[in-house]
Amino acid sequence: MTDCLISNTRIVGRAGVRDGDIAIDDGVVIAIGSTLENEFPSPEEHIDADGMVALPGVVDVHNHMHDVKLFPEGIDFTSQTASAVAGGVTTVVELPTQTPITTPQAFRDKRETCEKLSHIDFGLVAGNVDDSSIDIEAIMTEGTRDFKAFTAEPYLADDETIIELMSKVGTAGGKVRVHCETQGILDHARGEIESDEPEVYMDSRPLEAELDAINRVGWFAEYTDCPVHVVHVSSGSGAREGARFQSRMNTAVTLETCPHYLAFSKDDVAELGPFLKVNPSLKSATEVERLWRAVQDGTIDLIASEHFPTYREERERGWENIWEPYAGLPSIETMLEFLVSEGVHEGRLTWSRLHELVCARPAHEAGIYPRKGLIREGTDADIVLLREDDYEVSADDLTFNGGWTPYEGRKWSARVDTVIVGGKVAAQDHKVLSSPGDGEFIRREPMS
Ligand SMILES: [Zn+2]
Repeated sequence: MTDCLISNTRIVGRAGVRDGDIAIDDGVVIAIGSTLENEFPSPEEHIDADGMVALPGVVDVHNHMHDVKLFPEGIDFTSQTASAVAGGVTTVVELPTQTPITTPQAFRDKRETCEKLSHIDFGLVAGNVDDSSIDIEAIMTEGTRDFKAFTAEPYLADDETIIELMSKVGTAGGKVRVHCETQGILDHARGEIESDEPEVYMDSRPLEAELDAINRVGWFAEYTDCPVHVVHVSSGSGAREGARFQSRMNTAVTLETCPHYLAFSKDDVAELGPFLKVNPSLKSATEVERLWRAVQDGTIDLIASEHFPTYREERERGWENIWEPYAGLPSIETMLEFLVSEGVHEGRLTWSRLHELVCARPAHEAGIYPRKGLIREGTDADIVLLREDDYEVSADDLTFNGGWTPYEGRKWSARVDTVIVGGKVAAQDHKVLSSPGDGEFIRREPMS
């Protein structure tokens, strides 16, 4: 007997949308067709999708979810992967924050902890590297191929360290992910500011800091022959800067942006204040429009959430003093609904471009494509059904336990209805049905 049959759905793939049914057995898609109800007459679970769109489960390659040193009680890999799956994200690649993952033992410890806590399949990134003498190959043997480094505080690595790291990682078949903002520009800009008001935060992290660092890191990649992934590009100009290296022969530069850089400009800070504190900072409305174009034309390779969970009370402190709360936004649960509502439904993205940005390309980037990021025979049965409904966003309707969302009150038109993970219903209308420990660690092998 087949485990699950989804009938009457519109399946999104690389070439567009087509009507069909999906049959699942043993956690894997076994058939796609138009009359599967005849072929598989008595599945254990039958979901009549009633014309809802089916996307591969979103693969989010940039998020911060587990760090006992940093996050307060209640914010951990269980609560945050629950928020992920509620929003249609069925695979995550998590990045270190305050606790460094720069030894094989630290990597193994985190993997073992997260295996017990995770609702969904996950991979891990090593970092934050500020010393290039770490044992790259031994860490990669644990099942990662990505190393994170920063050109800015609080995990600043100097240029020579980043170059040395790239040189070693490139040789070993890995990739370096870089936070690109030049510390010297940030220091100077901060020194010019006396106020503690939320609005000034944007001025403390100028656009030029991002442009200079992307340019520098692009040349480092060229020089060391190491593929580099620029995380969270916050501006259209930043995307253009990175694109100069995408077109060169020797270098593989991939560019990532995040939903908040498309959803908000610095003009929104007057109203939302500390609830928009994020690094890199939000940029001008013109840069936001340029960034949408870079997302549309393929300059931006993929979109990741850069989910960073905090409680509402922690944020509120920022109205008094913007320098106090942590920077970063909870965004994993709302990413897909935002991109469909304000991207696809507003005519800014096609379904196939969305599929590329949050499913296929990130899975490829993580080294797990086509097992993840695609619906076809043989792939993991991780599938999101989207209901095209009008509603107003409210943190009360989310699984995220921080009590807030920067998108509060926005009017959206797509809602995650049913999320299937490994062939089983894992979430329904943002209510999570899966359990901690259901997810598995995914080893990611070096690039050949
Ligand atoms: Zn990050």
